[in-house]
Amino acid sequence: MLSSLCEAHTTTAPKIYEYKNQNEWITSGKLGSRDAVLVFRTNILNPKTRKTLSETQSVQATDSESQKAPVPAAPAVDCQDETPLAVVPQSSSSNATLKGSAPRKIYVSVRNPLNCKLIEEPVNQNAIKKIHHHDLSSSDTSISSDGDESSQNNENNPRLRQKKMELDLNKESGYSSSMGDDVNSILNRSEEDPEISSEEDNECGTHMPAHKLKITYKFIQTETKLLRKIFNVHGLTEVQGESNFNLLWTGVHMKLDTLRHLSPYQRVNHFPRSYELTRKDRLYKNIERMQHLRGMRHFDIVPQSFILPLEYRDLLIAHNKYRGPWIVKPAASSRGRGIFIVNSPDQIPQDEQVLVSKYIVDPLCIDGHKCDLRVYVLVTSFDPLIVYLYEEGIVRLATVRYDRDADNLWNPCMHLCNYSINKYHSDYIRSSDAQDEDVGHKWTLSALLRHLKLQGCDTHLLMLNIEDLIIKAVLACAQTIISACRMFVPSSNNCFELYGFDILIDNALKPWLLEVNLSPSMGVDSPLDTKVKACLIADLLTCVGIPAYSPEMRSHLDSKWTRFRSTSCQRRTDSTDSNASKKSKKKGANSSANLTMEEQRILRNARLQYSRRGGFVRIFPTDDTMQRYGNFLDSANGIPISTPNVQGQTFQTLVMQHNYNQMLHSNLYCQDPRCTKEDNFQENRVKQYERALETDAEIPFVKKVIVPKCEEEGRKLRKQLLIKISNGSELTQFQARQTFSLYLESVLRRLTQEPKDSHEKIILKFLNKFGGAVKPPVLFRNAQTIKVISKARSAMVAKLLGDFLELYKRDTEAYVDSFDHFGMIPSSSYNEFLIHAQESDLEAVLTLHTNVTGIMPFLYNRCGLSVPPTPPIPCGLHGFLRALPAMVSSSGMPREISKYDGYFKNYDKDCENVQDNSIRSKSTRRF
Ligand code: ADP
Repeated sequence: MLSSLCEAHTTTAPKIYEYKNQNEWITSGKLGSRDAVLVFRTNILNPKTRKTLSETQSVQATDSESQKAPVPAAPAVDCQDETPLAVVPQSSSSNATLKGSAPRKIYVSVRNPLNCKLIEEPVNQNAIKKIHHHDLSSSDTSISSDGDESSQNNENNPRLRQKKMELDLNKESGYSSSMGDDVNSILNRSEEDPEISSEEDNECGTHMPAHKLKITYKFIQTETKLLRKIFNVHGLTEVQGESNFNLLWTGVHMKLDTLRHLSPYQRVNHFPRSYELTRKDRLYKNIERMQHLRGMRHFDIVPQSFILPLEYRDLLIAHNKYRGPWIVKPAASSRGRGIFIVNSPDQIPQDEQVLVSKYIVDPLCIDGHKCDLRVYVLVTSFDPLIVYLYEEGIVRLATVRYDRDADNLWNPCMHLCNYSINKYHSDYIRSSDAQDEDVGHKWTLSALLRHLKLQGCDTHLLMLNIEDLIIKAVLACAQTIISACRMFVPSSNNCFELYGFDILIDNALKPWLLEVNLSPSMGVDSPLDTKVKACLIADLLTCVGIPAYSPEMRSHLDSKWTRFRSTSCQRRTDSTDSNASKKSKKKGANSSANLTMEEQRILRNARLQYSRRGGFVRIFPTDDTMQRYGNFLDSANGIPISTPNVQGQTFQTLVMQHNYNQMLHSNLYCQDPRCTKEDNFQENRVKQYERALETDAEIPFVKKVIVPKCEEEGRKLRKQLLIKISNGSELTQFQARQTFSLYLESVLRRLTQEPKDSHEKIILKFLNKFGGAVKPPVLFRNAQTIKVISKARSAMVAKLLGDFLELYKRDTEAYVDSFDHFGMIPSSSYNEFLIHAQESDLEAVLTLHTNVTGIMPFLYNRCGLSVPPTPPIPCGLHGFLRALPAMVSSSGMPREISKYDGYFKNYDKDCENVQDNSIRSKSTRRF
């Protein structure tokens, strides 16, 4: 039987994207072996580099000298046990690469300090300057250069300074480069720039090993453009509605049923019960429990918080001691939605369920602007615990200079650093070059560290404290997640998760954990964002490891797995399994030889994963892990214990006695000089955080092309439409909703470009009456109370309208017309109108249509008799806008869907039903 992959390997005809060294895209083992996984790189996102890359590889494939270059396939790892799962014949050229002839001109690491020590040969510096660490391959651990140089260069880079000065000047003069053209793009692409996969991308993908291996991915409810592009260029194929995916990427919690039926080679991007970390209220309660159990001084990592209305009395007591201000957040929301700051608890409405936290009044400021951090944390296993922190993060700055004065508490663009809020401020500056890491209102973490270091701050301690905070937060929530994994996850490699940690640093450089985001946004708004996130995703996928199995290997595994599951319903941790594996213990010279089969597998996986880590820095385990955190782990089984009554009971009685954390630590950092030791020591880690992220090829950031409207055409089509409507034709729900959202987008654009006080008030009134998920913060609800016209107020109204539009447009997708209805306007001509329509055209159509039909069903997710009648809309400029608040019937007020459901409530059911609910909510949500 010759697999399709084998056929691919025997095809030798040179093609433009035929990457001869197919095995450069496979690491951790030979193709066909148990451990082989796909490699992801950012350089092939750039079509120009792709070309060079394929050419270079072709040249090198014929260059016998370069083939002899001794670059080991995965040097840090003992790969002897590469048990082949299927025989995959190799062509002679690919055999050469299997033996480790990585084309060094391209695949070397310049940034990874951990690899520096491994350099044994002088490396051509000119080559290195062009090359970057994301070309991770099997040579990742072999070659490096002085990455400090690049960071030094950045610090002193006169071009960057000049650029910053220019931007500062622009800012002072009130001009923002971001606003003119970017507002359009914001509106059209929400946060993300759509680097839509081109045909060239897809062509590139078809020549990649993943394509030949028919590796598939599936998306569920997620923002996917950058991810999709990365998958496509690497040759992965999207599947829908099927369960035979290789990688499932969801934006929501996993269905437990999906988890239960995973095969060992399948990967999913969430652990069960991750909400223990990612819901603000649960996270706080878990950490609070650790404060009681282990002592406040160890877990003083979150601002003191209360969940209202349940803990209102406790809040009052705390307020008497500490006085305000307090920051009020809806428990299950994100992107700054619904957040406001108060001076005293009596300003907090009692009818809402919220998390109230001590407001940190003395934040770290950059040039007077408050900032916070988004860092990316990858957990690949909870037992043993394996946690990585990505070397680069994002620093978000508030647009308005920070001022503690209580009069400014209303101003979200001063107190909140969310991009989704600040992007609407006309002073917001977006860096326009991927190299500009300390320009505008979004910096990189490494740029912040270099900036702080220049000011004499102890960045070493800061980063160690950040690592400590992350580990403690994970330890506080791990116990529940581990028990869920045992119950629902069949294989220990099935799940991984990338968390977005939001951290605020105070001016004493103490980090505070604000929240942990489930599925952190992979949307990009600038070249810098694209660079960081593309590198992050590529490194994540390589590190996690998508098994490079052919369909034949997969079906072989599937049948083996089915047989195994029918004889044993419990996974690896059950006692029978462990007894069996214990029998296979071998005696040997080093400690790893005394391990059970399961322990050997865990150790081996951890080492392989570490060798593929790219820009990820492993922060747990490290050499001093047991010294620092050993006390928080159960002494018998190594599980982080966060519930007093469980200690020494549940885990020990239900589960065999193993201590994977202890085992892993002692093997990775054993004293035996014959052991290979992991080298992620403090010094190395901190150096890595401080370095600028470098890529050898620019990662394209292409703005969406906005088709120029033809005003005349718009007017002509409008006339025709108005006649049709007067003659009795009606818009479909979908057409009406599209028109309404385009109209509001146009209003939003005006609000950000030329704010009009009266229009802001109208929009606020409309949103206030509307309610729903987009509720203005309390202090903001009465448009009259904030008299001052300011850019910040415009930004806030624009943000609220933007949130509304996002949800509205998402709901609109449910109304798509699959065919033209009798008596309705044909969709082709209507689409033509929408392309060219100006705000006034849209307004005219909406006005006439609403006046003729007497109702505005498209404002709600319902139709028929339940839609309240609409008062006549006056004609004329902005007549529709002025009438908008009156169109919302106060009796038909929609209610918030994501209601707080109490933090003690069992959440599993909800998680299982997340998808069903979200589908159902489409029809029940009232807009
Ligand atoms: P969201 O999930 O809605 O983004 P966050 O908890 O991340 O909510 O908070 C949003 C913003 O509010 C953060 O960017 C931060 O600047 C600010 N913030 C949140 N909590 C505090 C706090 N306790 N003290 C000071 N600022 C805070």
